Amino acid sequence: MNNRILKWYLQRSWFFIALTAVLAVVCFGWWQGSSADLALTGGQLVAVGRLFGLLSAVAILLEIVLMARIPYIEKFFDLHENLDLHRLNGYAVLLLTVAHVVAITVGYAAPRQINLITEYININTDMAYVLWASIGTGVFFGAVATSVAVVRRRLPHELWYAIHLTMYGAIGLTFLHQVNVGGDFVSQQWFEWLWYGLFGLVFTALAYWRVLRPIVKSWGHELHISQIVAEAEGVYSVYVSGHNVKAFQFEPGQYATWWVLSPGLWWQGHPFSFSGYPGQNRLRFTVKATGTYTEKLASAAIGSRIIVDGPRGAFTADRISTRDALLVGGGIGIAPLLVQARALLAEGRHVTMLYATHDPEQVAFGQELAQLQSHGLRLEHFISTQGNRLTPAALKQFLTSSSTVYICGPDRLTRPVKRYLKGLGVPPLRIITEEFNY
Ligand SMILES: Cc1cc2nc3c(=O)[nH]c(=O)nc-3n(C[C@H](O)[C@H](O)[C@H](O)COP(=O)(O)OP(=O)(O)OC[C@H]3O[C@@H](n4cnc5c(N)ncnc54)[C@H](O)[C@@H]3O)c2cc1C
Repeated sequence: MNNRILKWYLQRSWFFIALTAVLAVVCFGWWQGSSADLALTGGQLVAVGRLFGLLSAVAILLEIVLMARIPYIEKFFDLHENLDLHRLNGYAVLLLTVAHVVAITVGYAAPRQINLITEYININTDMAYVLWASIGTGVFFGAVATSVAVVRRRLPHELWYAIHLTMYGAIGLTFLHQVNVGGDFVSQQWFEWLWYGLFGLVFTALAYWRVLRPIVKSWGHELHISQIVAEAEGVYSVYVSGHNVKAFQFEPGQYATWWVLSPGLWWQGHPFSFSGYPGQNRLRFTVKATGTYTEKLASAAIGSRIIVDGPRGAFTADRISTRDALLVGGGIGIAPLLVQARALLAEGRHVTMLYATHDPEQVAFGQELAQLQSHGLRLEHFISTQGNRLTPAALKQFLTSSSTVYICGPDRLTRPVKRYLKGLGVPPLRIITEEFNY
């Protein structure tokens, strides 16, 4: 591992260090507040139940942090890593919440020998805000249930997203019972303040990075669509102009969520990679029409205002430590690779691009690729209708012992290619992937 990659991993490890520090402080607060209860009958379960509750709340905050578009997180965790972490952590929230409810209910019921259902009803009716927390937990369960892959695939993206947004309300409902009846908060003022601080910090970050900053930044640059140009069959580029666009910073390989404020489009943002180079007078993203939104966007009115939530993504050139770069793009996955190729060539690397499409009509950016070829790019097309596919043997032909491989496209391309590369002995750290689906 050379210095560049080592630095990248060290910077990334700050996230885990910070998380461990938060967990350590929360466990300390719990120990200070609840350790005395560990000696009482039923008290052990209540104390452990409180710990589950605290950990569940930390896990909820982590869910928000992962989705808050904080540049540090976006830079060091690629989208799918982030989503995997978010999904696993979501299950942790559910398990910890169930454990919290069961332990507290059994802990309260045991010394008084009351049956568990009666005790559960008592807790919900007698203790302030606990009923609200139970409703919040129900909402949470519903949202997680719709995120399970089988269910999610059947739901329109927008419906899934709307259900997911209800989680914020659920968090508010559960927060009130924590600070009002949570034993560790009631007995320790500093812990209560810490709790307000943690939630305040995380929600401020969410509001700033996810809402305020994209709006202010896009408005300041007066971003709007200035041109839409066909690139290939069903593929078109959207050019975005505005005030001082040159100063809009992003790295080759990154993407943004684009909100186009025109009739029929304004209410949903979609992720598209930057297909133009940084430091130009216009931004550009290139779209393959695959569904309702991407078909409508092709005829968006020129002049429509744009809000850009980004740049985002860790599919960037600073993760390469080797002389050779092998760029593997499937379909519209070529868009960020085009920008990457130019950046990597400018760094003096040997760049080979394998561009897979279904048929020749889908090949985009012909002229720009030819220009890059004149600057040293080695380009190979893989066109399925011509029987030319990306097989392990084909990949082997273009790999060298010092290749770092960037793969971009739909998962039906990225996953097998990743598998082939592992089979060919390419170390995982040298395989960098961006998948164009959630
Ligand atoms: C990091 C990233 C970068 C991408 N870059 C590009 C690019 O440069 N060019 C390009 O053409 N495509 C890109 N995509 C894919 C593009 O975002 C989807 O094809 C597009 O959002 C589909 O919208 P649709 O409504 O037209 O299609 P639909 O047929 O309705 O949706 C197809 C699939 O796209 C996904 N999707 C739909 N809406 C959204 C949304 N609002 N947010 C996230 N995913 C959604 C869902 O998984 C859905 O199943 C990228 C995707 C990701 C994750």
